[in-house]
Amino acid sequence: MVDQKLIDLARETLLKKTNIAVLTGSGISAESGIPTFRGEDGLWKKYSPEEFGTVPGLLLQFAKNPRRIIEFALNLLEVFTKAQPNPGHIALARLEQKYRKNVTIITQNIDDLHEIAGNTNVLKLHGDLFRLRCIKCGHREKIDREYLENYMKKLRDILSSPLKIVKEGKELLPRCPECGGIMRPDVVFFGEALPQKELSLAYIAVDAAEVMLVIGTSGEVYPANTLPYRAKQNGATVIEVNPQRTIFSDMVDIFIEGKAGEVLPRIIP
Ligand code: NAD
Repeated sequence: MVDQKLIDLARETLLKKTNIAVLTGSGISAESGIPTFRGEDGLWKKYSPEEFGTVPGLLLQFAKNPRRIIEFALNLLEVFTKAQPNPGHIALARLEQKYRKNVTIITQNIDDLHEIAGNTNVLKLHGDLFRLRCIKCGHREKIDREYLENYMKKLRDILSSPLKIVKEGKELLPRCPECGGIMRPDVVFFGEALPQKELSLAYIAVDAAEVMLVIGTSGEVYPANTLPYRAKQNGATVIEVNPQRTIFSDMVDIFIEGKAGEVLPRIIP
């Protein structure tokens, strides 16, 4: 049972202040059907992060067993292209739209749910599944759900025949319209650097924040996990929403134990 006094305190704090930074992790999208990273039904319980979460691991797996990589891609895309924003995402959009607050969403998620819900200032620290990047010239292209649904049709077709896997498997990734190089998903795999522009903008937003909301992140991943401490040091009120205590919970000003989809609509009505 969530303490009503904490809900009231969080709501009043948010309504009084203008500059709000929000750090989200995979927990905010759990109620939309996207499993969290380390949760029981998490992706990395089924596929090892060394093999499927790194570029060398993926290349090696592909050489050994292309069917497994295609099935992995299909599993992942099916979940992300079906997901819809839940009441937690929608409440954060309301903060910007109804209450006219200056909101920066700093997310570790690669899904598109904050944007679909209606937040306009979203910094994606770990990249974006709905964007491709050329490995040769760095050109980036935004893609939408329709593009990915068509791509999934292609993957299912390839999987339908062992011959197609051998013949067409090598041409799975699209080509850059600028230079003909290979376009890869513009997401940060394990061991890769974060996008520097997004990270710099995140520091600026955190330094300007009067309130910081920390939602659905275990705080295991650097450097995103330094942001709540930075906000606190700068004098912001830090509010955390999570069904479980995390490394942040003893430091924050208000810890609300509960699911994002249940708590956020109550603090942002
Ligand atoms: P994590 O798995 O380490 O932690 C998830 C946190 O969410 C936990 O603290 C858990 O208690 C909490 N949680 C679970 N259900 C919740 C709910 N309904 N409401 C609020 N909180 C809830 O995830 P992380 O800290 O985001 O770090 C893992 C990495 O995994 C990130 O880098 C991210 O890029 C990646 N990832 C992204 C997605 C996505 O895009 N949706 C999904 C899985 C993993």
